[in-house]
Amino acid sequence: MTTTTETRPFEAEVAQVLRLVTHSLYSHKEIFLRELVSNASDACDKLRFQAIGKPELLGDDAGLHIDVDFDSDAKTITIHDNGIGMSRDEVIANLGSIASSGTRRFLESLSGEQQADARLIGQFGVGFYSAFVVADKVTVLTRRAGADAGDAVRWESDGKGEYALAAADLPARGTSVVLHLKDDDAEFLGHWKLRDLITRYSDHVAFPIRMHKQKDGKPTDEWETVNNASALWAKAKAGITDDQYKAFYKSLGHDFNDPLAWSHHRVEGSQRFTTLLYIPAQPPFDLLMGGRDERKGVKLYIKRVFIMDAAAELLPNYLRFVRGVVDADDLPLNVSREILQHNRQIERIKASCVKRVLDLLEKLATSDADKFKTFCGAFGNTLKEGLVEDPANRERIAKLLRFASTHADDGAQNVSLDEYIARMQPGQDAIWYVTADSYKAAAGSPQLEAFKAKGIEVLLMFDRVDAWVLGQFTEYAGKQLRNVAKGELPLDEADKKKQEAAAKEAEPLVKKLKDLLGGRVSDVKVSARLTDSPSCLALSDYELAPHLARLLREAGQAVPDSKPTLEINPAHALVKRIDAEADHAKAEDLALLLLEQAEITAGALLPDPAAFVQRMNRLLAD
Ligand code: ADP
Ligand code: MG
Repeated sequence: MTTTTETRPFEAEVAQVLRLVTHSLYSHKEIFLRELVSNASDACDKLRFQAIGKPELLGDDAGLHIDVDFDSDAKTITIHDNGIGMSRDEVIANLGSIASSGTRRFLESLSGEQQADARLIGQFGVGFYSAFVVADKVTVLTRRAGADAGDAVRWESDGKGEYALAAADLPARGTSVVLHLKDDDAEFLGHWKLRDLITRYSDHVAFPIRMHKQKDGKPTDEWETVNNASALWAKAKAGITDDQYKAFYKSLGHDFNDPLAWSHHRVEGSQRFTTLLYIPAQPPFDLLMGGRDERKGVKLYIKRVFIMDAAAELLPNYLRFVRGVVDADDLPLNVSREILQHNRQIERIKASCVKRVLDLLEKLATSDADKFKTFCGAFGNTLKEGLVEDPANRERIAKLLRFASTHADDGAQNVSLDEYIARMQPGQDAIWYVTADSYKAAAGSPQLEAFKAKGIEVLLMFDRVDAWVLGQFTEYAGKQLRNVAKGELPLDEADKKKQEAAAKEAEPLVKKLKDLLGGRVSDVKVSARLTDSPSCLALSDYELAPHLARLLREAGQAVPDSKPTLEINPAHALVKRIDAEADHAKAEDLALLLLEQAEITAGALLPDPAAFVQRMNRLLAD
């Protein structure tokens, strides 16, 4: 056999990942083992799946397993599996280039503002490269299941920018990853050290992880299984400890934190399946990056055989933070993604998953305030999308949401709609809210003034999804949800009289302002919303809030121009000054400032900032 070696460069982004990984994982070196064992386990899963249709791939070597071995003299650790293996093309695609957008995302997360923990490397689909944290050279020997002995591949790299590729001869299918340890990392060259890491991070890998049995401190030829090696979800609940549930979550989610909560159920009856679903304590990276594509995190098994990650088929988008396993008994093993997408059984399993998650969250809300608070902080906004996405569960989802409010002055988002309703004033029939860009902007909205004066609570909405959600979520528990800036305020008889009188009295002033503001406003009215501020904008029921219109424009969307309605407070000194101002130019400056400050507090973009500044300076220097 000819053994020509070919040297190839890594794709640029891989080289960048390699550099970053070795630096940022410096204090968590041990994760390399978890990542490589996880890949070996994936390789066994893939083989088992492919062998359903092609049993000959397994041959007489049907016991899938992972072996971890080390050589103190050669300073190597070897992770071997008899799983699917890789062809030459697959080696090039998987170990030298960017197989998914994970690489780019990993880079972004490490350099971006929202620094993901580098230990979450496995969530990004670049876990293999963690090998170079402890090794200055990595050799991969691999033979694809079904390929001939002589068609094996040898891949080798020092992780610096190039890798070498050569043909190899291997007696059996599978993959060996040989780590040539850096001198500094000799600590990993020990039976108990490695075994401890396996129990800690990989105990619930469903295939046996084997090590050489020790005798008198020396390895023997005999292999022994050192992990739990069973499908945890398939065991009876009573036989599983909390620690086992937690450990399984960590290896499943490539996470280092305990999950917040979990729900484990076996459904019997006409359709049989098991669900084990976890709520993480921190957003997984795909949530951080806002990525909606290639959703991952819920593994579908059929009778213990891993089929595929089917998060998108098994959970709606608004529950995309959930991690877990679904094991169905009654689906055909050769099921495809296309079939999953239109399968009544999957629909039922999905509905059951949703129910379990909502049950779990309801339990958390009533039994563990701290954890529920953590949940709301991490995933409250994601869950909120469910109000639109899942109308059938709208009521349940709405109950779980927590908002900031004028009754909680620290910006804490901890007021539920039920609490709000319980505090409503006599005669109050709507749930009032205000939307803005930030907590401060919401809390400072002039439109709140009349509500505050009457002791009516207003919910402060300042998340990006709010306006979209509130466009469709308009009623809860028989109460309308209403924006304080929109439409007419409901006034009692006394207030109505006062309002009419004020409007009558201000008629000349209103006319003056309309003349002065010309085409900039659609109308000017005396406000029932204001007590302290001179002016605010009022919206019609179908008008976009100005801060939203700005956001949409910034995102490149076409937003129809609409002229605002300006509401004024005739009792305010500035408004009185305009009323009294005889000089037309000065009155015009003042009137425009009245409008512009209303626009600014509403989060609008001023159409002509320079003119605004000049106007203000003229008046200040006056
Ligand atoms: P991920 O496991 O998330 O896909 P990794 O960087 O850990 O990302 O691995 C990259 C790819 O390399 C895997 O998707 C797989 O195709 C391939 N690979 C890695 N290790 C093995 C292995 N032991 N056997 C077969 N393929 C492997
Ligand atoms: Mg991996």
